[in-house]
Amino acid sequence: MITRANKGKPVDYFLPVGEFHVPLNPYIGKNIRLEYQGEIHCLHCGERTNKSFGQGFCYKHFTSLAQNDSCIMSPEQCHYHEGTCREPEWGERNCMQSHYVYLSNSSAIKVGITRGGQIPTRWIDQGATQAIAIARVTTRQLAGLLEVAFKEHVADKTHWQAMLKGAPTVLDMASERDRLFELAKPQLDALIAEHGLVAVQLLTNGEAYEFEFPVQQYPEKVKSFNLDKTDVVEGKLMGIKGQYLILDSGVINIRRFGGYSVNFS
Ligand SMILES: [Zn+2]
Repeated sequence: MITRANKGKPVDYFLPVGEFHVPLNPYIGKNIRLEYQGEIHCLHCGERTNKSFGQGFCYKHFTSLAQNDSCIMSPEQCHYHEGTCREPEWGERNCMQSHYVYLSNSSAIKVGITRGGQIPTRWIDQGATQAIAIARVTTRQLAGLLEVAFKEHVADKTHWQAMLKGAPTVLDMASERDRLFELAKPQLDALIAEHGLVAVQLLTNGEAYEFEFPVQQYPEKVKSFNLDKTDVVEGKLMGIKGQYLILDSGVINIRRFGGYSVNFS
């Protein structure tokens, strides 16, 4: 889903269906129906694929595109310098450029990394109600190395079921950041000594972001739909959070079904 952040108002959501972007917020409180047409088209080449690999790719592009390599999930393992990047040019454009390390609060506090251009989209996609950038670094790999250092003291995963059951406790993001800097000081000092103050900049004064999601009612139990098993997802749309539609009949992670042709009504 495509999102648009609004200060002091809930995020706006749009569902890409064919060439159209259907505004979803007006459907909240109404019945909706998604019907899977039985076809998956690779998000890269558009060719039909029997199975979706990654988040909507054919097997060939799952195994050949740099964006689907394991170093994207584990950026500290970037192997560009070894000359083995699947697509060095893509790597230069996407990984060899400034990244941010952030703290976000979706069900609890967690650390993550993102490219500058993905702020605040990345946080909305996670269903975070609060977020703050805490470091700016010159490559994706450095962001990964910082994340590894912070992970010893804070989680790096979102608990999506908890995220979908309600809003988390409001946190003082600036003090969470200060606390984390203190805890990770030895590792941070070592990274700065090795890579330099220009490459690793700690953001001691970043602005905290807040997001509101269009949710009328949170579910008590979270049951998720899988288009590989059910063709029709139907029910009253209770809300939208992260990349999930929350229906009174269950939730669906739209991101997971990228490339699936659906009818929306
Ligand atoms: Zn493909």
